[in-house]
Amino acid sequence: MIQLYIPLNFLGVLYREIRQSLTDIERMFALMDTHREVADVPDAVALPAGPCEVRFQQVNFGYERSRQILFDVDFTIPAGGRVAVVGHSGSGKSTLARLLYRFYDVNEGGGRITINGHDIRRLTQDSLRGAIGIVPQDTVLFNDSIHYNIQYGRVSASAAEVETASRAAQLHDFVQKLPDGYATKVGERGLKLSGGEKQRVAIARALLKNPPILIFDEATSALDSRTEQAIQGQLEQIARGHTTLVIAHRLSTIMDADQILVMEAGRIIERGSHAELLALDGAYAQMWALQAQEDSAEAPPENAV
Ligand code: ATP
Repeated sequence: MIQLYIPLNFLGVLYREIRQSLTDIERMFALMDTHREVADVPDAVALPAGPCEVRFQQVNFGYERSRQILFDVDFTIPAGGRVAVVGHSGSGKSTLARLLYRFYDVNEGGGRITINGHDIRRLTQDSLRGAIGIVPQDTVLFNDSIHYNIQYGRVSASAAEVETASRAAQLHDFVQKLPDGYATKVGERGLKLSGGEKQRVAIARALLKNPPILIFDEATSALDSRTEQAIQGQLEQIARGHTTLVIAHRLSTIMDADQILVMEAGRIIERGSHAELLALDGAYAQMWALQAQEDSAEAPPENAV
C-alpha cells in the first residue's frame, strides 16, 4: 500500500506543478488518465477536424471561490488569426491558456469558451487537446534521445519527418554536431540543453503535431537576442495558418498580431493592433515606451541604432 501511495502521491505533486507551469504538456496526457479533475461529460462530442475559431465569451474565473482572477474576458481569435496578450505579471495571461486547454473550467455561470461554436466543456478532452499545441516557456525534456523528445509531438512520425521538423525549428545543425546525433541522450541525466535549444525542441514537437490551434508562452528568461530573433522567426512561420494565442513578455515580438489584448488585474483594459494601441496613448503605449527605454539601456553601444 505504501509502495503504491508514494508514486501516486509523487504523480499528484508532479501533476499540479505541470498544470501550473504549463511546462510539459505531453507528460500531462499520461497523467490525465489517472488524475482527471476536469472530466468528459457523458455525451461529449469530438471536435471535428479543420480550422478553428476560438471565442472567450464573458469569461469569469477564480482558482478559489474567494478570489476571482478573470472578469468578463471577451475576445475572439478568428480561424488562422493571431491574438497576443500582454500585461503585468499576475494579470491573468497564463490563466487564459490554462482555461483553453481545460486544465480548469470557467466558473458556473461565468461565461464560456467555444471552438467553432462548441462549448469546450462539451468536447472530448482528447479531441480538444489534440487540436491544441503548446510551445511552453520552459520545456521539460524526457531522459531519452533527442529523437524521442522531438517525436513525442506525434509518436507515429517517421525519422524523416522528425528530421524535417527539426530542420524547420533550426535544431538540425545543432543536433548533427552532437556526439550521437539524434540518438544523443538529453534531459536531467543526459546532455543539458540551453533554454533556446529546449524551446526549439518544443517548436519541433509542435510542428510535428501540426494542430489547428497554437499557444505560445513566450520565455520570460532572457534569451540572447540572436536566439530570440531566430526563435521568433520560427514561431511566426509555424503560426501561419494556425489560430494562435501568444502570451507575450516582449512587446517587440507581437507588433504584427491581428489583435493585442492588454490585461490588468484580470480584465482586458485595452485592445487593438499595435498602431491603434500606440495611438490610444494608454497603458500599452506606456509599456512600449518603457520597454524601448530598457532595450536601449541594455544594448551595447555598437548595437545601438
Ligand atoms: P506571469 O506573467 O507572471 O506569468 P500571468 O499574467 O500569466 O503572470 P497568471 O499565472 O494567469 O498570471 O495568474 C493570475 C493570478 O492567478 C495571480 O494572482 C496568481 O497568483 C493566481 N493563480 C495562478 N495560479 C493559481 C492557482 N493554481 N491557485 C490560486 N491562484 C492562482
